[in-house]
Parts: sequence; structure tokens; C-alpha cells
Amino acid sequence: MSNGNGSVRIGFYVCHCGTNIAGVVDVKALAEWAATVPSVVVSRDYKYMCSDPGQELIQQDIRDHHLNRIVVASCSPHLHERTFQTATAKGGLSPYYFQMVNIREHDSWVHKDKKAATEKAKDLVRAALRRVVFHEPLEKKQVPVRSDVLVVGGGIAGIHAALTLANAGKHVYLVEREATIGGHMAKFDKTFPTLDCAACILTPKMTAVRSHPNITMWTLSEVAEVGGYVGNYHVKVRRKPRYVLEDACIGCLECIEACVYKQAKVSDEFNLGLGKRKPIYIPFPQAVPQVVLIDPETCIEFKSGKCKKTCVEICADRNAIDFKQQEEIKEIEVGTIIMSTGFQTVDAARIPYYGYGAYPNVYTSLEVERLINASGPTGGEVILRDGKKPKAVGIVHCVGSRDENTNRWCSRVCCMYSLKLAHLIKEHTDAEVFNFYIDIRTPGKGFEEFYCKLLSEGVHFIRGRVAEVTDWALDPSEEGKLVIRVEDTLIGRVRRIPVDMVVLSVGLEPHADADEVRRQFNITCSTEGWFLERHPKLAPVNTFTDGIFLAGCCQGPKDIPDTVAQAGAAAAEALVLIDAGHVELEPNTAYVLEDECSGCKSCLSLCPYTAIAYHEEKKKAEINEVLCKGCGVCVAACPSGSIQQHMFQDEQIFAEIEGVLAHA
Ligand SMILES: Cc1cc2nc3c(=O)[nH]c(=O)nc-3n(C[C@H](O)[C@H](O)[C@H](O)COP(=O)(O)OP(=O)(O)OC[C@H]3O[C@@H](n4cnc5c(N)ncnc54)[C@H](O)[C@@H]3O)c2cc1C
Repeated sequence: MSNGNGSVRIGFYVCHCGTNIAGVVDVKALAEWAATVPSVVVSRDYKYMCSDPGQELIQQDIRDHHLNRIVVASCSPHLHERTFQTATAKGGLSPYYFQMVNIREHDSWVHKDKKAATEKAKDLVRAALRRVVFHEPLEKKQVPVRSDVLVVGGGIAGIHAALTLANAGKHVYLVEREATIGGHMAKFDKTFPTLDCAACILTPKMTAVRSHPNITMWTLSEVAEVGGYVGNYHVKVRRKPRYVLEDACIGCLECIEACVYKQAKVSDEFNLGLGKRKPIYIPFPQAVPQVVLIDPETCIEFKSGKCKKTCVEICADRNAIDFKQQEEIKEIEVGTIIMSTGFQTVDAARIPYYGYGAYPNVYTSLEVERLINASGPTGGEVILRDGKKPKAVGIVHCVGSRDENTNRWCSRVCCMYSLKLAHLIKEHTDAEVFNFYIDIRTPGKGFEEFYCKLLSEGVHFIRGRVAEVTDWALDPSEEGKLVIRVEDTLIGRVRRIPVDMVVLSVGLEPHADADEVRRQFNITCSTEGWFLERHPKLAPVNTFTDGIFLAGCCQGPKDIPDTVAQAGAAAAEALVLIDAGHVELEPNTAYVLEDECSGCKSCLSLCPYTAIAYHEEKKKAEINEVLCKGCGVCVAACPSGSIQQHMFQDEQIFAEIEGVLAHA
């Protein structure tokens, strides 16, 4: 047999894979049959082809028998295609003169009839033997990788990833959309299971980010546009005005004192509306950067232009206040990107029967985190809206989680943070605390021990999903109380528990704009909306877009230890690329036959990797082979057949089809 470039000499190998293949497929008969196929010069069966001796066999045969094509029938190419390509290359051939046949997952594992399975194996092998004749000696391309990294989101995930990379000597751009970095963790007083003070462990990391010479930190900023490809991303970042010059402000906060608003009147976002702030403010005392900002929606100067501008007067020395500051676009070139945009909590008002918004003493867990926090709106006092301490508190678990009507998934941290809040509320108020749970899930280091500690502290646990929270009193003990109605599934009875305060342990969900963000970065989302990792076990921080990695809760709910571990892994993956200095690209890319392209543009919108552009002068489609992932969508869709793909050429595919159908 010949492909027109001289005679083809094929080496064929069938793997027993222990008994995985040989238990069902007659491997000896298969090798004997293959030996009779024209162009097959060597045909062998071997117990484990992927083992070192198996690979040696291929290399030796290439040399001894002057083989110029290799076919291996074994397991899935996902597992060992690279192994055999490497063996082929070590034997002195182009690795693209290799073809693999999956007779395990596609044959021996799914069939019982030995005879039929062996016949099927022959069909699959025949297809490969015919196809491999038309293979070409392709070459991998290399693209250089810039060493600067973009980290999107300045929660604990982004902070940890940025510091890891910066400490390794790489320059990091950390882009955070809020006025301060810190994310959700900055709102907590203590963290489970060790109950260490969140600020004590987070603040040093936040200030380290601010002062690190290798980190450019941009708050009040968002990515506006992303172009390019692995190693060479071109990013535009939109920086919103703070109306205070970051380099001039020293965080003395005198401008806040001086503001003509004598009292703080504006609902305070950082405290989730539980406190008030002025139009000129700092989100919280340990905010980073320690720079105030002005809210143009409520500042008199912005609204009427008639303010006395006492803030400007008091800051005359530093002249940091700038009402004319404008939005800016910064353009940066980075090689890799880490997404660490985190999560939002479920809006408790979506579950109306829990009374959030209807009864003032129904709080979300995040609000209670702020009440407990010494720098929160009540200075750390857990008090009701009327200022009194609660005598009984009910904590409702799984609010907006494990529920078909809201989110089906378990939010993974709520059991533990509910236990933490139960402990802290008891410590702060000495109230009776009731936990209403479906299951208690405490799989983590020290978590079960923490649960046992709570049991010994006299916290009550009632197993059952809460039906409703009302203020309807059925007897005098319920007067003036919130009543939690629940079926206690351990005693099989519906109970009514009167309490003063209800805490809704709201679940974690993707940000409302997650889909928009993932489109911007050309990454994928799971059906739930979390950013999708390339492989849940083997590539948990990689995305399907090379050079873009995931860290923290944007990939799915997780606690702080897991977030930090993942952020470290994402930073390490970025470092691997940076230190290699280049990436190798698989050559299975599509290309345009210019003479035949009619310039109809139908391929442009179909490409999931935005790899196709339209050349205005030539009036032809053009494929950027660095961006192309070889998915083949454009090849199939091109009406004139002018897009072809390396490794999937028409003649290769037709030969394969003829081979599989040529069963005698
Ligand atoms: C009530 C509650 C209590 C908890 N208590 C604990 C505890 O005690 N112990 C524990 O281990 N875990 C706890 N957790 C879990 C903990 O909050 C998370 O593990 C942690 O916050 C995850 O960090 P992150 O950086 O991934 O996300 P986040 O903290 O959400 O940070 C993400 C950051 O990205 C920014 N961002 C979002 N989108 C963009 C964008 N498009 N561009 C730029 N910036 C963006 C956000 O503003 C934010 O600053 C608790 C969670 C909740 C809800």
C-alpha cells in the first residue's frame, strides 16, 4: 500500500491490558489477522503495551524493520495516546505517524460475546490501518508566554494567588470590582473550625498585597475586554473613579468627619444595610487600600454642585479629593489569567415563607456575621432591631440549597458556618439556640470535633426542613415572638418553636453576571453557572481555555482552607507555563484553503474559541492556529468545503470509514 510517498510499512500492536482486553477479544487471532493486511510488516500482541518493555518493542521494531507507521490497539487515547506517540518519536518517527484504536472502552468492556468482539476489533483496526497511510509528519508550534499575570477578584482566593505569584518574582495585576479587596472573608469575625479571628489572618495578607512591589492592585475596576491567547492575552481594564486620588490620600479619615452630612444617613453596603455611612466613606476600618471614596449618588456636590466642600478644605494639604476624576481604561499584556471572582449568597427573599424582609428580626447569616463583628454596625453586639438581646435564636440551615425550587446543590460551608454562628451567638447573648437542619455535613479537618463541641455546649438540634416562619401566636408563650414551624423528623411530630431572632443560613451561588464574565474570558460554566474546570479530578484548576485558571468559589462552593489550597494550585499552574517560557500547540488545527473560500463568513460566529477572523482585503476567512482547538465545527459547517483540519483530512476520514465498513 502507498500514500503516494513511497511504500508504507506499518507496525501493529495489540495490548492484552491484563485480562481487560484479552479476556474478551482474541488478541492472538487479531494479531495474526493483522499480519495478513497489506503494508503491515510487523504484528504483535503484548501483555501491557504501555509498560516500558511494550514501548521498547515499538522503538526496536521501527529501527529493525524500517517501519514508517505505527498502530496500537489498546485502551482510550485519553489514557495513552501520548505514551505511544512518545515511543514512536523515540523510535525516530514523527509522532503523528501513529494511530491508536480503542478496543477496551469501545469493545472488550462493553461486549461479552468473544467472537463478535474479536470481529469488531478487526473492523476498528482495519479502519486505523487504512487511515494511518494518509497521516502526515506534522510539527508542534511554540508560542512564547509572557510572565505577567492577571488575577480577577480580590477575595482570599485572588489575594493568595497574587501573593504566591508575586513572591515567585512575577508581576501580578489584581483587579477587584469593589472599593477594597478582602471579599466575603473580610466580613467575618471568626472562622470555623478553629475560630481564629478573620481579620487577624486576612489583614496582613491584604496589606502585603498593597505593599508588594510585584503587585499592581486596581480596586473599583473590572475587566472590559480580553483578546489574544495563551501566553499573550491583551486585556483592557475599566477603572471607575473614586473621586479621591489614591496616591495622595493617607487614610486619615478627617474628610469623613468634616463632611457636611452631620450624621451618617446612607445605607452601608459593606454592613449589608445594617449600618449607615456618609457619602464620603471607607468600606470598613481595615479596608485595603486605606483610601476613602465618594459615592456620587448621595454626595451633595455631585447632586447639586452646591456643597460647601468641607472635605476639600480639610484635605487642602494633600489635595486628594478630585470631583472631576474620570473613568480610565488601562491596557495590559499578560501571559496567564486566574479567575477568582467568588460567589454571591442566595437572596433570602426568594423563599417568602421564611419571612425575610417581612419580619425585621429575620436575618441572613451574612448579616449576623456583621452583627457579631466588633467592627460591625453594632460594635459586636448581637441585638434585635429594638436594641434588646435575643433570648432564643433559631438558625435555619440549607436556605436556598438542596432545594429544587432554588438551587439543587449543597453549599458545603453552611453547616459549618451555622455551627460557628450558633457558638458565637450563644457566647455573645447566652440565648437558647436552635439549629434546624436536614443533615449535618461536617467532612473536614476538625469539623466533626467542632460539631461535637457544639453538642456539649447545649445548642439544640432539630432535624427537619422548616415549613415557615411567622409571627402568628397560638398561645401566650408565642406572643411577640417569631414562630418556627417544623416537622421534627426524629420524633415524627410537627413542632412550633418560638424565638426572638431567626438566622437564615443562605447558600452560595454563582454571581448574577457569571455568564457574562465567562463569555468575556471564553471559559465554560457548569449547568449551575459555576466556572467549569477542565477535569474534576485531574485538572481541577485548569479551564478549557489554555492559560486561564480557576481559584476559589467561582468554581464551586468551598471553605477558606480549600479556597487557599486551590489558589495556590492555580498560581502553580500559571508558574509552570511562565517558567517554561513557551507553550506547545497541538497541530490538529483547522486551516482555510484560500482559493476555495467564498468569504461567506458562516464559520465566524460558529467558532467557540473565536479563532476565526475575516480578512477584509482578501475577503476570506482566516484561522488563528494559536486559538484553534481543533474542534472541527468550522470544518463541518463550511458550505464550500474550504476549511480543512490537520489530522482530520477528508482522505484520512474516508479511508477510516471505508476500513470500518469493509468487513468481509
Ligand atoms: C455566611 C458565611 C460564613 C462563612 N464562614 C466561613 C468560615 O468561618 N470559615 C471558612 O473556611 N469559610 C467560611 N465561608 C466560606 C468563605 O466565605 C469562602 O470560602 C471564601 O470567601 C471564598 O473566597 P473567594 O475569594 O473564592 O470568594 P469571595 O470571598 O466571594 O471573593 C471574590 C472577590 O471577587 C470580586 N469580584 C467578583 N466578580 C468580579 C469581577 N467580575 N471583577 C473583579 N472582581 C470581582 C468580589 O468583589 C470579591 O472581592 C463562609 C461563607 C458564608 C456565606
